[in-house]
Amino acid sequence: MVIVFKPYTTEYDVARVEQLIKKRGLDTHIIVGAGQTIIGCIGDTTRIDPKLFEVDASVDKVIRVEEPYKLANRAFHPEPTVVDVSGVKIGGGNIAFIAGPCSVESPEQVTEVAISVKKSGANLLRGGAFKPRTSPYSFQGMGLKGLEYLVEAKKVTGLPIVSELISPEYLSVFEEQVDLIQIGARNMQNYDLLKQLGHCKRPILLKRGFNATYEEWIMSAEYIMASGNENVILCERGIRTFETYTRNTLDLQSIPVIKKLTHLPVIVDPSHAGGKWWLVESMSKASIAAGADGLMVEVHNDPESALCDGAQSLKPVKYEHLMKELTAVADALGMKH
Ligand code: PEP
Ligand code: MN
Repeated sequence: MVIVFKPYTTEYDVARVEQLIKKRGLDTHIIVGAGQTIIGCIGDTTRIDPKLFEVDASVDKVIRVEEPYKLANRAFHPEPTVVDVSGVKIGGGNIAFIAGPCSVESPEQVTEVAISVKKSGANLLRGGAFKPRTSPYSFQGMGLKGLEYLVEAKKVTGLPIVSELISPEYLSVFEEQVDLIQIGARNMQNYDLLKQLGHCKRPILLKRGFNATYEEWIMSAEYIMASGNENVILCERGIRTFETYTRNTLDLQSIPVIKKLTHLPVIVDPSHAGGKWWLVESMSKASIAAGADGLMVEVHNDPESALCDGAQSLKPVKYEHLMKELTAVADALGMKH
């Protein structure tokens, strides 16, 4: 249930209504917007009659929220959330251009890619140190050494870094060193991990599971938010369908749907969606045109010999071209980048 106050209601009136809600055993979440305040009620509101609040002179309207997610719900927070990743703003018209190799392979590789993507206009650097691979015989990432090389590339370029956390074991190291902590498709429903991220001071990039519905995906964000961390960015990375020609199927519809249902920023990873480098440009342009708040693109200086996902990685020169095209699309839409 969401209680919307009349414009310019005093703090005193809001506190009075809040007391009334709390007396009924519910928790509250107050959002003070420009000229208007909203209280979201958290808990079992099924037996509460909205009239109880509607009769209050300071209340404009009471909206019942049917969805199981509350904190992520657009009804609780009509304005889009802007997440600040170490100074880079994402959401509300600010676009994130995240680029870098699938995996960190050496200090030279990650720094070389970092310098080139920065020159092309990327504002965040990605690099996997811990890789959740389908086969136990595939390259599993360089682990903490990889993270160290990624931090070195950050020092050289000044780009904040994004890396995937696969186990709570490394949460404190990530919290210290990684600007935006990525939770991969395979861990989207690892609820214990999600709960622990709630106590983390870093923003979270939550990728969509291969077979997750919108509601399941948003509920995973809700886990993180309900545990105390409201800085969550969602990432569409393709879902599994009957089509096998592409690695996954990019669900472009998820962008307007997520924006309608939630106030969280949503970005797109076209690399893991298509699994082919030549699909990245068209899907990136389509994503920005559809309203995505950013992109995460895999870039490798030598894709043919990449230890992971070379087939879907762009060469730096191709990324440079992509960024020129994308800035034209973003400018046409009046987005900040
Ligand atoms: C990745 O971004 O490197 C990755 C493994 O992606 P996903 O979790 O979407 O498969
Ligand atoms: Mn990859």
